[in-house]
Amino acid sequence: MRAEYMREQKRSHGRKVLAVLPIQYPKELLTAMNVLSMELWGPPGAPRGPGASRLQAYVCSVARNAVAFVQAGGAAEVDAFLYPHACDSIQGLATLIPDLGGEDKPALHYLNPKGGYRPSSRRFVAGELRRLAADLAELTGEPLSADRLSWALDLHREIDRLRARLLDGRARLDMTDSDLYAVLRRGEWLWPEDHLAELKLAASRLAPMGEVVQRGVGLLLSGIVPEPMSIFDELSSMGAYVAADDYAAVGRRVVRKQLLASEDPMDTLAWLMFAYPPCPTRSTSLGQRMDYLDRLATRSSAEGVIIHTVKFCEPELFDVAGIKERFGARGLPVLFLESELEAELSGQTITRLEAFVELLTQRRKS
Ligand code: SF4
Repeated sequence: MRAEYMREQKRSHGRKVLAVLPIQYPKELLTAMNVLSMELWGPPGAPRGPGASRLQAYVCSVARNAVAFVQAGGAAEVDAFLYPHACDSIQGLATLIPDLGGEDKPALHYLNPKGGYRPSSRRFVAGELRRLAADLAELTGEPLSADRLSWALDLHREIDRLRARLLDGRARLDMTDSDLYAVLRRGEWLWPEDHLAELKLAASRLAPMGEVVQRGVGLLLSGIVPEPMSIFDELSSMGAYVAADDYAAVGRRVVRKQLLASEDPMDTLAWLMFAYPPCPTRSTSLGQRMDYLDRLATRSSAEGVIIHTVKFCEPELFDVAGIKERFGARGLPVLFLESELEAELSGQTITRLEAFVELLTQRRKS
């Protein structure tokens, strides 16, 4: 489905297509320059090709599966690759993929600002954005237009506003988690205007303020990417739902802050790069992150927390002890799950989820 959509985008709209590795990147810039992003989160399931064995066994499956997928020809039709610097593994892919299936494709880079806002980091990110815009102009043959960038900034703010409404109003949304996440994750590869149309449709299913549609045990889920997606149906069958989201692929990419408007849209974009929710892949402080997660749990009335992370994801592991400690002190139970980007949850994981939801259900009754 993605492949056919990508071909249609190229054919009908003359768009270039970028395979984008995780996690954060200035999507507004790509949209402004008529470039479609196809994000590569693995994909899940058994590695599609022998390329996975090119990486050490202690590298996460997001990186391993991406190499295997590309080497097996899965990204043959994209025009270039973009490597945002989420972590050392993604940086490693930027040197491996050009030799393993991505030989004839330009490799574009983008370095996220690390740590909090500082004037020097803002200057740094502004330089990164200008450099990426120049690389994209070389790819598309068209320079960046300020008007198009302003338009793209507005479009993505509208998308963020709706994504925030759906996530923050989860208890009022008459949709299953599976259906909601299918819509949210289609934003990883749809042209933004198509994604916006689907978000509007989903938002029309929000009940009025004060009404509650979801009656199950509300959970806060935190991790890199919600795979396998069958986790949502499993939780639902156990009587639970996702009340709050802190996945790096989903909630951590929704900007809720008001944009600092500047006459130069490139300035606005540079500011935006500091407005995302805290994420260890951008080296935000644990204190900031915990305050954010605390607010998320309180606002959603989450009754428990599931840390659902990818095995060997170093940045994510940095914060696990802190999350357990903070929520433990609050009396909020925490379950720690590691996944290998399997196609389905293992029986052992399902048993652990059942026991956790059962514990929360009993707490509710007592
Ligand atoms: S799962 Fe973690 S280690 Fe792997 S690519 Fe993503 S951020 Fe990097």
